[in-house]
Amino acid sequence: MSGSESRLRAIAAVNETEAVTEPFNFADDPTAELFGKNVFSKAIMVERLPKTVFKSLIKTIDNGQPLDPTIADAVASAMKDWAIEKGATHYAHVFYPLTGSTAEKHDSLLSFNENGQAIAEFSGKQLIQGEPDASSFPNGGLRQTFEARGYTAWDVTSSAYILENPNGTTLCIPTAFISWTGEALDKKTPVLRSMRALDEQAHRILALFDNDTDGFIGATCGAEQEYFLVDRNFYYARPDLLTANRTLFGAKPPKGQEFDDHYFGAIPERVLAYMLEVERELFKLGVPVQTRHNEVAPGQFEIAPLFESANIATDHQQITMTVLASTAKKFGMKCLMHEKPFAGVNGSGKHVNWSLGGPGVGNLFNPGDNPHDNVQFLVFCAAIIRAVDKFAPLLRAVVASASNDHRLGANEAPPAILSIFLGDQLTDVFEQIKAAGTASSSLDKSTLTLGVDSLPPLPKDAGDRNRTSPFAFTGNRFEFRAVGSHQSVAGPLAALNTIAADSLDFIATKLEKAVAAGKDLNESVAEVLKEILDKHGRVIFNGDGYSDDWHVEAEKRGLPNLKTTVDALPALIDPEVIEAFEKFNVLSERELESRFEVYTEQYILALRVEANLVLKLGRTMIFPAAIRYQNELAKTCTNLKSIGIDFDTNTLDKITTLVKQLQDALEALEIENAKEDASEAIDHARHYLEVIVPLMNRVREASDTLEGYVADDIWPLPTYQEMLFIK
Ligand code: ADP
Ligand code: MG
Repeated sequence: MSGSESRLRAIAAVNETEAVTEPFNFADDPTAELFGKNVFSKAIMVERLPKTVFKSLIKTIDNGQPLDPTIADAVASAMKDWAIEKGATHYAHVFYPLTGSTAEKHDSLLSFNENGQAIAEFSGKQLIQGEPDASSFPNGGLRQTFEARGYTAWDVTSSAYILENPNGTTLCIPTAFISWTGEALDKKTPVLRSMRALDEQAHRILALFDNDTDGFIGATCGAEQEYFLVDRNFYYARPDLLTANRTLFGAKPPKGQEFDDHYFGAIPERVLAYMLEVERELFKLGVPVQTRHNEVAPGQFEIAPLFESANIATDHQQITMTVLASTAKKFGMKCLMHEKPFAGVNGSGKHVNWSLGGPGVGNLFNPGDNPHDNVQFLVFCAAIIRAVDKFAPLLRAVVASASNDHRLGANEAPPAILSIFLGDQLTDVFEQIKAAGTASSSLDKSTLTLGVDSLPPLPKDAGDRNRTSPFAFTGNRFEFRAVGSHQSVAGPLAALNTIAADSLDFIATKLEKAVAAGKDLNESVAEVLKEILDKHGRVIFNGDGYSDDWHVEAEKRGLPNLKTTVDALPALIDPEVIEAFEKFNVLSERELESRFEVYTEQYILALRVEANLVLKLGRTMIFPAAIRYQNELAKTCTNLKSIGIDFDTNTLDKITTLVKQLQDALEALEIENAKEDASEAIDHARHYLEVIVPLMNRVREASDTLEGYVADDIWPLPTYQEMLFIK
C-alpha cells in the first residue's frame, strides 16, 4: 500500500466510523454496579468467603501481614466459582518482567479427577504459586540455566480480576515474579519491598511527633498517561511505526502544533467514542479513571486516574496501557505510547504524582493547620529534597530508555537535570530555616521560634504550576514528570520509595538521638533541616527548566546533567545506590546489576532494530521512490529537449544530489551497524549513541528533504500531516 492509498483508506475509515456500539451512561449502568464489576474485591470477598478466612486475608491486604497459607484453598475455591459465573475458562498469573510489559501465562480452570472426569478446579496452591516457564525474559544473569525456573507468587494486596474477551475470558491474578533463589525478576517485587521500607521509616518520624498510628504508611500514586492515536491504515503502511513504534522518517507537516489549537480542544468523534469505551472497560476493572482531554500535539491525548496505593496504581497503570491498546483496535486506530513517535512534535510522558500517607495520618505532604503539624510536614519535605539531590542520577536512570532520550531535554519535556520545584512560598520557608543560624551550635531559642512559631502560613495550594520542572511539589504531592509514556511506573515508584526511606531514616536517626539526649525536638528539627538545606538546597529550582540559563546555572550548582540513557544507567550500580537499596532490602547488589545489564541490553536492542529499519526502508522504499521521480524528471527533460524546448534541471539536480546523500549515508550506516562488538555492553551502547544514531539522522535528513520534492503519488509513506490530522 502506498502512502496515498493508505490516506484514502484512512479518510474512508474516519467517515465510516459509527458512534460507540454499546454506549454507556450512569443512568442505565449505575456506577455502583459498573465500577469494579470484574474485580474480586473486598465486597465480593466478604460475601463469598467464610468470616475467619476473610478476616485473615484482610490483615494481609491492609497491613501487609504474612499470608496464612491454610486459607488459600478456601480463597481459591471462592475465586474460581466467582470467575466461572463470570464466564472464565482459564486463569492467569499476571506479572511484570523487566521489559516493562505485562506477561500472563494462561492455565485452564479444568482439571481431571482420579476417574478421568473433567472438573473445574482451582487449588490454593495454584492461586499462591505458579511456575511459568518464562526463561526467555531478560534476567540480567539472575537465572543460570540450571536454576532457570522462576516462579510467580500471588500478590495478595492487589485484587484478582476478570479480563473479558469475546474469544475467551480469563481470571487474572496479580503476582510477583521471583527466581528460586528469591531474587526479583520483575518490576513489581521491588515496589512491594520498598513500600515496606517506607512504612517502617515513616512511622519513626510520626512517633517523634507523637502522631504514630497502627496503620500502614505507604506511597500513593496517580499517573497521568499521554498517548497518540493514529488510524490503523497508516500504522500498517508505516513499517517503522509497526516495528519500532516511532516514525524514523517524515518531514515536518505544513501545520504543526504551533497554533496550540488542539490542546484541551473539542475531542474528535471517533476519539471520544474510543475514550468512552476505554473508560467503561477500566471502570469494570476497578481502575478509577477520571480525566480525559486533548494534549498539546495534534493527535495526542491524556487519561488520568484518581490516585491509589502505589502498588495497586502500578498494576492499574499496566491495565490502563493494555486497555488503551486493545480498545484502539475496535475503532480502527492504533494507540501509540512511544515517548516520541513523531520528531518535531511534542512527545508523550507519564506524570507520576506521588505522595505518602495512611489511615489516621492522611496525606503527609498536606501542610498542616497548626505549627506542630507544619513542622512534621517540613520534615517530610526536607527528606524529599535530600533524597532527590543525593539520588538525582538514580532518578534519571529509572526513566532512561532509548525512546525517552528523544523527549527529555527536548524543550517540551523536563530537562535531564533533576531539580525540585517547591513554589515561592515553600521555598521561602526553607530559605528562612537555612538563614536562621550560621552553625548548628549557634542555634538558640530565637531560631527555634523562627523554625516553628512564626512560620509563615504554609501554602494550601501551589497556585502557579511550573510545567518545566522534572519534579514539582504541587500542593499536596510531588509530580515526577520525567517518566516516559510507555514505561511502567514501578521503577520510578520503587526508587522514590527507597530514597525517601533513606532520607527519613537519616532524619529519624538524628532526631531520635537528640531527643534521647534530652534535647528539644523542635530545636533538633531546625538543626537537621538546616543541615539538609545547606547540603542539598541546590536542587531547589523554581525557574524555567527549558531555558539555557538553567543549564549554565545547574552546572554552577554542581547538579548532574545526564543527557542520555548511556550516561544515566551506570547510576543503577553506584555504590551509594547499592548501599541504600540493600539497607532497605529493596534490591541487592546482584539484582541492581541485573537491571543495569538488562536495561543496557534493551537500549542496544531498540537502536539496533531502528538502524535495521532505517537501512531497510531507506533502501527499499525511499530510494526507489526517489529514483523513480528522478527518472520521470530526466525523461521529461530529454523529451522536451528532443522537440527543442528548454527544461530547467534545478529540481532534477537537487534530487540527484539528495539521492547521492541518501546512498552515502545508508552505506556508512550499513558498515557501522554491521560491526560486531565484543566490548562491554555499556560501551557497545555508547557506540550506538555516538556513531549509529548520527548516521540514522543523516539518512533521515536526506529522506525528509526528498519528501518535499518527490511527487506525492510516488511517496511510499503516509506523511506526518496525514497521520496527525486525519482523525
Ligand atoms: P494536572 O494535569 O494538573 O497535573 P490531573 O488532575 O491531570 O492534574 O492529575 C493529577 C493526578 O494527581 C491525578 O491522577 C490525581 O489523582 C493525582 N493525585 C492527587 N493527589 C494525590 C496524592 N495525594 N498522591 C498521589 N497522587 C495524587
Ligand atoms: Mg500533571
